[in-house]
Amino acid sequence: MRHGFIFNPTFVALAGNKVKVFSGIFEVSTGGEVDSVNITNQITETVRRSNVESGIANVLCLHTTCGLYINEDESRLKQDVQKTLGRLVPKGGGYGHDSIDDNAHAHLRTILLSSTLTLPVSGGRPVLGTWQKVFCAEFDGPRARTIRVQVLGE
Ligand code: ZN
Repeated sequence: MRHGFIFNPTFVALAGNKVKVFSGIFEVSTGGEVDSVNITNQITETVRRSNVESGIANVLCLHTTCGLYINEDESRLKQDVQKTLGRLVPKGGGYGHDSIDDNAHAHLRTILLSSTLTLPVSGGRPVLGTWQKVFCAEFDGPRARTIRVQVLGE
């Protein structure tokens, strides 16, 4: 699996230069038709490069057929997540969108998760619980996926 960084930092002065805004973009290559890729390290690295010590980080997956979630990085649990979403929204379930490009299940599973999440930033790092990791959940892969992280703070 390949993980590439494409950084495009932009700093915006707000509130008398006390608030910084930093945008980082990275790519994730997913490994199958469905996959759950831990992107916590890339998010942590993006926050580190922002030099924001205290604030928030918004993470956005720039696609309509893969989403984001937070949970434990355990291989059987990752399979359980995909199997459960597959049961809730089975492939070829008679969806209207399938007449266009045959991937309505992937869009609908993405909607059930989310395309965006926000983490607190403290001490220059995103705040997560001991077992919490951020995942990019692929539903129509394998593909290269682009994630944008916007860090706001001081
Ligand atoms: Zn589609």
